[in-house]
Amino acid sequence: MAVREILKLGHPLLWKKCAIVTEFSSQEVQKAITDLKDTLADFRAKNNFGRGIAAPQIGVPLRIIYIHMPDGSFDGPMINPVIVAESKDTFELWDDCFSFPDLLVRVSRAKTITVTYCDETGAIHRVEVQNAFSELLQHEIDHVNGILAVQRAVSPDAFALRKEWEKFYKNS
Ligand SMILES: [Zn+2]
Repeated sequence: MAVREILKLGHPLLWKKCAIVTEFSSQEVQKAITDLKDTLADFRAKNNFGRGIAAPQIGVPLRIIYIHMPDGSFDGPMINPVIVAESKDTFELWDDCFSFPDLLVRVSRAKTITVTYCDETGAIHRVEVQNAFSELLQHEIDHVNGILAVQRAVSPDAFALRKEWEKFYKNS
């Protein structure tokens, strides 16, 4: 169990595509899952927000994300997650990221997606998710593909530092 340092925007590892997990019971994979869980819980306790984290954010270049939905609908790792279907319907939101906690980016995400993933035992699951869960999974799955939300900006002016965002956009 360990709370790990979160890599910040500019760290080269955040731009790298991560490797597929094949040895689910390996110490490396099991430790990564525990560390993601602990690091996410620590971030949430300190910042009062935070629903998901991806392995590259703690320096582990594997396709593992960890999700904690505040409504209790999901709490656990998703390994080798893949978006297998997405709706044409999209919606826009201000996105943030543990790797650039003071920057918000306006992004567009599919409203509904279908995702396949493995749990920590290697068993395969398939889920259809919408809205807040959908945009969260798109954000975290982007991470394991080496894509950050800054690359998803809907326009060149779709950025705000958190203090300015609170002044100008929070209630809009
Ligand atoms: Zn992120």
